[in-house]
Amino acid sequence: MSTEQLRNFVGGDWIQPLATESLPVMNPATGEAMAHAPLSSASDVDRAVQAAKNAFPAWREIPPGDRIQCLFKLKNLLEEHLDDLAKTITNECGKTYEEAAGEMRRGIENVEVACGIPMMMQGYNSEDIARGIDEILIRQPLGVVAAITPFNFPGMIPLWFLPYAIACGNTFILKPSEKVPMTAWKLFELLKEIGLPAGVANLVNGSKAAVDSILDHPGIRAISFVGSTPVARYVYSRAAANGKRAQCQGGAKNPVILLPDAEVETTTRVVADSAFGCAGQRCLASSVAVTVGEGRKVFGEALADAATRRVVGYGLDKSVQMGPVITPESKARIEGLVDKAVNEGAKVRVDGRGALIKGFEKGNFLRPTILEDVDPSGTIAQTEIFGPVLSMIHVDTIEQAIDLVNRSNYGNMACLFTRSGAAARKFRYEARAGNIGINLGVAAPMAFFAFSGWKDSFFGDLHAQGRDSIDFYTNKKVVVERWPQEWSRKF
Ligand code: NAD
Repeated sequence: MSTEQLRNFVGGDWIQPLATESLPVMNPATGEAMAHAPLSSASDVDRAVQAAKNAFPAWREIPPGDRIQCLFKLKNLLEEHLDDLAKTITNECGKTYEEAAGEMRRGIENVEVACGIPMMMQGYNSEDIARGIDEILIRQPLGVVAAITPFNFPGMIPLWFLPYAIACGNTFILKPSEKVPMTAWKLFELLKEIGLPAGVANLVNGSKAAVDSILDHPGIRAISFVGSTPVARYVYSRAAANGKRAQCQGGAKNPVILLPDAEVETTTRVVADSAFGCAGQRCLASSVAVTVGEGRKVFGEALADAATRRVVGYGLDKSVQMGPVITPESKARIEGLVDKAVNEGAKVRVDGRGALIKGFEKGNFLRPTILEDVDPSGTIAQTEIFGPVLSMIHVDTIEQAIDLVNRSNYGNMACLFTRSGAAARKFRYEARAGNIGINLGVAAPMAFFAFSGWKDSFFGDLHAQGRDSIDFYTNKKVVVERWPQEWSRKF
């Protein structure tokens, strides 16, 4: 495979970044370099901001109904190129082809929903708030906005932001993860074909230096971030200190509560898929299974069996159910956390450390791992592992289980499996998490819903997806007007 030297997309074309440093983009299954991602500098970011700023006045004047015509074209192109995009995701990110294609479907869904912006962007009005005085609320685009995205969904997460941002009349800059820049490159190859004016959508590759330049650039009005909690907190505070609107989605440690009345077969399949899908590298992955009462024995056995049977390997092999983790460092960190759990008293029920896959000996493979008797206050129960490791904790009552959910610093997702409506309602009512699942594992919300998150999983007040995208990507303007009746009598 050739190693492509990636470039930035600025002002409607591919340009060589001014910065000369780059990082290799590695296939996590083969350990081979596929491309080189430039590490853009402040000057590279500035070039993108200037292009976006120049494009903004004309773009905002195009009626929303005309702006979204580009999105219809994008949707069709994404459908047409779905196979290639999914293969690219598998090769740079590691997940299976089926997972990658599913990710692209969820991305396309956001493009579809953003086509409704002309209606979603409507304001409201009141006639005669006082005699002869009317008041109206209108929504206007912000200007230049940016999104900074993580490695684990290189196709879907940029599409959580780009379609809404530009349909609202903003101009946009994407800074994808330097670990997976190839999907964004292919996405922008398609964006080049949809008739967007130059500078409306721009791509700047890079890592921390590029992010810092985006956070500090006075020309950027709003920032969407998705990534780990420490970086989300940092991005949020630096963006806010610079007067920018920001919504920052962070990491997670997601519990699933298994009541003894839960249906065993489906629950086991769903929890195993949620814990080990995408090799556990999902912010909505189940990472702690809390068994209640008699649920312990049956779910302990069933989940161990499901973990042992999962087929691990290269994601383009159709029989494979779980790919590698992103980097050798990530693999070593996950294995180190499992070692630490053992030191803290956990038992390894299924051990996925030290996995080797024939023909892919340089890949970052782990097999599904299950830890039992995990200390709820220990490191492993509190730390986001971001790998295929499910920790099991046992409690006697649903109250204790909900208390565990609510004591976590994170609040991205929590699930309950039960046949009891009363237990389900109690859980939905009391659990302190932004995404709740009842009898299923939570996937990213459908595009017409915002992606919620509580506590250390989300920083900000506004959300940037679905119908909430309007609040994030527009300014509200309230106009009050007085037109005395007697003036019209002159005509
Ligand atoms: P990350 O925080 O390492 O990187 C995210 C982005 O921030 C990348 O573009 C990266 O270049 C940049 N970045 C990294 N370190 C930085 C620093 N010190 N200063 C400035 N910028 C920096 O995250 P990741 O490893 O790419 O992704 C995995 C994380 O993302 C997990 O914690 C996962 O839970 C989280 N995630 C959250 C959601 C959500 O919706 N809440 C969705 C997907 C992933």
